[in-house]
Formats: sequence, C-alpha cells, structure tokens
Amino acid sequence: MSQLIQDYTTLQATQRPDATAIVAGDESLTYRQLETRSNQLANLLREAGCRPGDRVCLFLDKSPAAIIAMHGVLKADAVYVPVDVTSPAPRLAAIVKSCRPAVILAEKAAGKLLKPVLAEANLDSSPRIGTLDAELDFQTDFDAAELEKASEELPESTNGPEDIAHILFTSGSTGTPKGVMLSHRNVCHFVDWGREYFGIGPDDRTSGHSPFHFDLSTFDIYGSLSAGAQLHLVPAMANLLPKNLAQFIRESELTQWFSVPSALNLMARSEVIRENDFPSLERLLWCGEVLPTPTLIHLMERLPHVEFTNLYGPTETTIASSYFTMEKVPADPRDPVPIGRACDGEELCILDSDLQPVPDGEKGDLYISGDGLSKGYWEDPEKTREVFLDREDQLVYRTGDIAYVGEDGMFYFVGRNDSQIKSRGYRIELGEIEAAFNSLEIIKECAVVGVPSSGFEGTAICCAYVPQNGDDVSPEALRKGASELLPRYMLPKQWQQYRKLPKTGNGKSNRREIRETFESRMTTENN
Ligand code: AMP
Repeated sequence: MSQLIQDYTTLQATQRPDATAIVAGDESLTYRQLETRSNQLANLLREAGCRPGDRVCLFLDKSPAAIIAMHGVLKADAVYVPVDVTSPAPRLAAIVKSCRPAVILAEKAAGKLLKPVLAEANLDSSPRIGTLDAELDFQTDFDAAELEKASEELPESTNGPEDIAHILFTSGSTGTPKGVMLSHRNVCHFVDWGREYFGIGPDDRTSGHSPFHFDLSTFDIYGSLSAGAQLHLVPAMANLLPKNLAQFIRESELTQWFSVPSALNLMARSEVIRENDFPSLERLLWCGEVLPTPTLIHLMERLPHVEFTNLYGPTETTIASSYFTMEKVPADPRDPVPIGRACDGEELCILDSDLQPVPDGEKGDLYISGDGLSKGYWEDPEKTREVFLDREDQLVYRTGDIAYVGEDGMFYFVGRNDSQIKSRGYRIELGEIEAAFNSLEIIKECAVVGVPSSGFEGTAICCAYVPQNGDDVSPEALRKGASELLPRYMLPKQWQQYRKLPKTGNGKSNRREIRETFESRMTTENN
C-alpha cells in the first residue's frame, strides 16, 4: 500500500535498484535511475519556483523521460498535466490557459509547438520552460545539463493522499477540453486493487500501449512500477501496422497486455495472431469501450493460455470501476460481455431520473461512487455539480452510460445517453467537433454524428454540413480547416453536403435522420 504515487518507485528503488523499470526501444531505465533522476528533477523544479499544487504541463511524448517527469513533478508536490502533443496548437493553448502552469516540461519535437501555444494562451505570468533530454528550439529556463547537476536527494514532501496528483483533459461538449482532477488516493486505490487482483509481480513484463494523456496509461505505469515489474512502452508507430503490434508482444515477451479494444480489433481482423501465440502472455486486459464478442472469441481461441478481463470505467472515477474475467469462450458471437462487478471500494448502481434504483434487468443510468471518484473538473464547479451528485449523503458520478444488471448479477453496458462517443478508443464529445466546424467561415451549419462502423475505429465520425454562401464546399477544404483546430482522431470520416439540414419539429438538427443517411450509405459502401 502506498500513500503517495511516487512512493511505489522509491520503495522498489531500495528493494531492487538495478532491476529494469522501463524499456522503450533501445533505451531502458533501472529503478535506481528512475528514482535519482526524478529526485533531481523535483529539486530543480523547486529551485525554479514550483510550489505545492502548481501545475506542470508535460509536452512530452510517451517515453522514459516523461515518466521521470511525472515522478519529478509529484516529488515536488506539484500536479502534472500530460498533454497530447499531436493536438493542434489552439487546443493545447486552451488547456494551458485553463491550468496556468508554473512550468512546462517539453522535448525537442514539441518545442516548435510552444511558441504558438503560449502566444494563443496569453497567460498573465509566463511559465518556466524546462527540457530533460535535448536542446529545444526555444529559450529554456533549465535543461538536461542543469538536471545533471541537481541534488539526487529525495526532497521532503508535504503532500497527502487527498492532494491532486494529475489532471487529465478530455473532450468537452462545448468545444473546450475539461480537466479531470485525480488525487494520489484515487490512483493508489485502483493501482493497489489491480496489482493484487491480477497478481502483478517483479517477473512481469507489462505493456505501455496507451498515450500518457489517456487514463489507462496510469495503470500501465504505476501498476507495473508498484510491482517492481518491467514496463515496455509500445511505440505509437506500431499501431499503424497490426503485425508490428503482434511482433512487439512476441519480442518483448510481455506477460500482460492492456489496451483499448481497437488495438485488439486491428490484430484480430488482420489475422496476425497465430495459434498459441505469445507464449509468455498471461493476461490480456481491455478497457474504454466494448470489445466486440467475435474479436474476443477469435483472441480466446488463439490464446487459450491467456486470462481475459474486461475493465470498465470513466476517467472521472479513475482508470476502471468494474471488471469481468472471462470464464469461458462466449458460445455465441452475439452474446454481450458483461462489464462485471464493482472493483473493491467502488459501487455501481443503476438509477432512474429521480435517482431511485431500477429493478434488476431494467435499463437505467449508471452511477458510480467510491474511492475512485475524482475531485471533479479543474476550476469548473458548475460542470462538476452537474455530474457529481449528492445522493443519500453520498457523492455519486453520473457516467452518462446506460446499463442494466443481468440475471447473473453482473452489470451490462448498453450505450450512452448523450453525444459522447468512442472512436479508436478516444473519448470524443461530438459537440467539440461541431464547435470547431461552426467556427469555420465556410460553414453555415453542421451536425456531427457517430455511426457504428465495421472498421477497427468502432464508431465512424460523420459530418453533415451546409456551406455558408450556397457555393459547394469540399470535404478536403473542411478537413483542412478543422485539422488546425482538432486532433486527427476527431476528424470526420464521412461527409454529406446539404442545402438545408433535416430538422425536427422543434427546429433542431434531426440527428436521427442524418445518422440513418450515413448508416445506409456506409452499408452500401461495405457491400
Ligand atoms: P474514458 O473516460 O475515456 O475512460 O471513457 C469512459 C467511457 O468509456 C465510459 O463512460 C463508457 O462509455 C466507455 N467505456 C469504458 N470502458 C468500457 C467497457 N469496458 N465497455 C464499454 N464501454 C466502456
């Protein structure tokens, strides 16, 4: 058990200092190296004026340096904010503006982003800029040379378990990303449960598949480090070719794989997993969206030596809140896979619109309470109050998911009751995409809908639009305009130009009709 997240590594660094903690390609870090370098960074951050509770934005790709940075920030009693460095500058600026960092830690590749981001964020006081590994194309306040010289002593911490450890920004329906604040206690609670339940130990070789701004990576990192195991960071490029992903699992001799379903769908569809492949693999975990049952059957049949677990939960309740470990291969590809039962310390309940429990078997809104419940949204009490509700003297989080309890006593996920979708594992508010398109001058009106797709992305993003001046506007022009505002994974795949959008009786865009139009077009295209 740990009080603060960084204590896991400090403990392992005393117990097994020379064991490998992190592997990324040719680069690796031992527990001792991770401990001393993060101590140095913490001391440097304090010297740079970083105070308890200050935010430190990480403009760092998935790398050992980023994990040193996270530890260094925590040891300085500060709060880290990992950002998606592949996002366009205006979106990053909105995040930077919202969290007003005392320090930005950046790497060379992200250096050129800093200028436009800081110009657009237009902060009252400029953050200090530091880099850990390479020179930046930017004036820095400290760099790798200073880090080298900083004290290796672990600075004393004043933080407690309830203090915020990190803020993860997710898509926001009004167009601005919202920051979920997670405490040390939130994270340690899930990490301790997960390590015990899955029996992760020092001989494990775990995957680091998710990007660091996505909450699954929190379990990759601290689940592995708290067990003294080896974390193998999966290069983002491996995702482009499923055979490379499979090869990565083989060559790294992974014992544990954890990812969103799209990576698994990709491998299953491309038939890159052989019979009894991945002999070292002991467990395969997925979370974030539904893993289609045919994919699960495919994987379970090829990998009979592996245990399969479905984890479910939103970022707001820390990594995952419920779990279901498969007892046998599903008999029918149409059988739904349960999201299971609550993890220790968590509670799931299905309520109606009056916050009253619905009978088992009936669908309702899924609420979560317990130790994973985050502290709400960064500086947004209104949004926090909307979804973190007081019910019978207990705080419950309204997930926005529809679910029911089956005859087996397990929870089953049905879908969403709003316009949040998952595409390629990314959580996306369709409202954020619409807000971006509506800001383009060439567009008069648009409606963005999600359509279930047979491709590996799970849900295809489809955009219906009306040009501003009656002239035709090509999808290419829209794509180009939107790509300056939205990350690539939010760009629509299907487009339909209208002279007037179909409307409902009360004048709103008729999303159902628009969705059906795209659905029938996609069905025709696939046949
Ligand atoms: P995120 O905050 O990115 O983790 O997304 C949370 C949302 O993803 C949940 O509210 C669900 O809609 C969906 N989700 C997460 N895990 C699962 C799962 N195992 N099965 C189905 N949907 C899931």
